[in-house]
Amino acid sequence: MAYAHTRTPENRGGISLYLLRGFRSAAVVVLVLVLLSTIIAHGQTLTFQNPRDLLIGDPAAIVDLLEAARPAPVSTEDIGAILRALPPTGEVTKLGAAAQRKVNAVRQLLTATRREWYEIKVIDVPQAAIGLHARAVVLISAPAIALVNAAELQAMAAHEIGHEYVWTEWNRAYQHADQNRLNELELVCDAIAAFTLHQLGKDPSKVIDGIEKVTRFNRQRLGAATNEKNYPPVAERRAFARQIQQRLRNSSRRSRSGHQAP
Ligand SMILES: [Zn+2]
Repeated sequence: MAYAHTRTPENRGGISLYLLRGFRSAAVVVLVLVLLSTIIAHGQTLTFQNPRDLLIGDPAAIVDLLEAARPAPVSTEDIGAILRALPPTGEVTKLGAAAQRKVNAVRQLLTATRREWYEIKVIDVPQAAIGLHARAVVLISAPAIALVNAAELQAMAAHEIGHEYVWTEWNRAYQHADQNRLNELELVCDAIAAFTLHQLGKDPSKVIDGIEKVTRFNRQRLGAATNEKNYPPVAERRAFARQIQQRLRNSSRRSRSGHQAP
């Protein structure tokens, strides 16, 4: 897979078949089981649903929209059920110092975006991947944590958070095998991640840096993913990310020079 998402039972065709091709480890079974477990879909409809909508309007207004459309936290009860449903094996529990620092960086991002209820789990699968399970568990593969740096991992977690806002929409597109829509939603999540990072004073370009590293790694080691068409090509994502970053830079400059409307 180019950039894994582990969020629905419906996407098991894309991910599990790919994972199972040539890999029969317990860890692979873990991820497949994760994919089969229940999803909890919440979230409200955003007023922007297309990547182009994020290139117009004031970035500050988009941040306000994101805040207004913020999905409700997953309840403690639901979190318990989600965690109990996770397979007992396949989690990497002993992390080296460098990996732990990166997990801490993701935790810091979750706290900064007021998503303290999220769990973070590092899992032992062959591909570099980060995904969001049941809107409650950030799954990071061992190769991903070794491959990307802390800022990139934070940025990729911010992309996963973006999926909260388009959760239902993404599932619908997935069920209909609507690759165009799935591609658009990935760009929307890239943009949400960039806005989130910018808002926190972090570098929005790290989103695409991380995605590029992970995509290259998986391509070189595992070949083309069966669900690759569900994701825009990296070049397209980078071009879109540049446009978003330009907008963010322009808006920062405007607010610094005091031209922004009160
Ligand atoms: Zn995504």
